[in-house]
Amino acid sequence: MKLLVILLFLGLLTGCSGNSSYSLTPQLLLVSFDGFRADYLKNYDLPHLQNFIKEGVLVEHVTNVFITKTFPNHYSIVTGLYEESHGIVANTMYDDVTKKHFSDSNDKDSFWWDGAVPIWVTNQLQENRSSAAAMWPGTDVLIHNITPSYFMNYSSSVPFEERLNNVTTWLSSSNPPVTFAMLYWEEPDASGHKYGPEDRVNMSRVLKEIDDLVGDLVQKLKVLGMWDNLNVIITSDHGMTQCSENRLIHLDSCIDRSNYSVIDLTPVAAILPKTNITEVYEKLKNCSPHMNVYLKEDIPDRFYYRHNDRIQPIILVADEGWTIVLNKSSLKLGDHGYDNSLPSMHPFLAAHGPAFRRGYRQSTINTVDIYPMMCHILGLKPQANNGTFSHAKCLLVDQWCLNLPEVIGIVISALLLLTMLTGLLIFTQNRVPASRSFSRLQLQEDDDDDPLIG
Ligand SMILES: [Zn+2]
Repeated sequence: MKLLVILLFLGLLTGCSGNSSYSLTPQLLLVSFDGFRADYLKNYDLPHLQNFIKEGVLVEHVTNVFITKTFPNHYSIVTGLYEESHGIVANTMYDDVTKKHFSDSNDKDSFWWDGAVPIWVTNQLQENRSSAAAMWPGTDVLIHNITPSYFMNYSSSVPFEERLNNVTTWLSSSNPPVTFAMLYWEEPDASGHKYGPEDRVNMSRVLKEIDDLVGDLVQKLKVLGMWDNLNVIITSDHGMTQCSENRLIHLDSCIDRSNYSVIDLTPVAAILPKTNITEVYEKLKNCSPHMNVYLKEDIPDRFYYRHNDRIQPIILVADEGWTIVLNKSSLKLGDHGYDNSLPSMHPFLAAHGPAFRRGYRQSTINTVDIYPMMCHILGLKPQANNGTFSHAKCLLVDQWCLNLPEVIGIVISALLLLTMLTGLLIFTQNRVPASRSFSRLQLQEDDDDDPLIG
């Protein structure tokens, strides 16, 4: 019985802590497919990605940061910070103090990026390590006076294959060795905007192309002998939702344009009033039942989107699927940027490699939790961040992981064991007294007999 108890607990221990035998210098490749909505994984046939997941881990929904746009979320992944803390608060920004502008085609001024230290910089400040990047937002900018040792200037026309070739070359043959690399691809975001996520024909075509790219990535790593030792995270910045010309919010019908500047338009509009803030706010407040209008100081706490000078005095947040326009606009059939509590805005995360468990699934983590997990894998001391390492613990082989179902399992096993032990004890005790009482009965008979004989 003792042996059974020991074996059971040993089994539970190994089941929870996994196999922590990897000891090579850890290397990590972080891949982002822009705009890969979490439920594409369930709704489309993606055999290469599913194989990758089968041998690794999957987080079904990643709760990203508000606003659910590309530049802000990519910077949150690599810093573990909310947008108000890292300072990339939109794809289009204006700083009223310096009068500087930022957009995805005008992003090279380190002024916008220096509010945080991304992981590729921290990694590179370690002795004998370097970082590499193929088009990840911000990696072709001097941040704290450093770029990754190897990087590509952004150009959307560079094919995936060229980006992948560069990354694998850097990971396998550089000195000092590249321990952290990033790879970015513009799809399925571009097609999601163009066709809308509900266009099954076009979305299944583009998702099959992406799945083939995942197949190419895995195949290349296998051919180069890197597959078993390299940690690979595949994730995204945000999801996508369907828009429609029947769901438009016309600002011109509510307020004259001479009253304000639009810094960013939809689905989160950043409004800089030219006249009295309260007056502009009052006019916008009742503009549409499908839009929330906030003075900066009233933006809900859960957005973590208030404490930064680059957040404008008035913010308009459209309801899911609604588009904010001036009098006319080039409407996109799909868009993102909406409330980060909406499942349609969430991406997924999958990972494979010696640092990760195999065949493990978890329902959610936050985008800001990815950073402390990556620092752990690379053995880096994280910068101050908004992430929680324990949220990602169960994905990692070298961590104790007790989630609720496992705790319940352990309690039930323990109770069953206790019941068995008690039952066994009672059974054993009942047997011993039975033989004694029989002897006593015999003795009593003898005792009784004696006087009779006597
Ligand atoms: Zn986009």
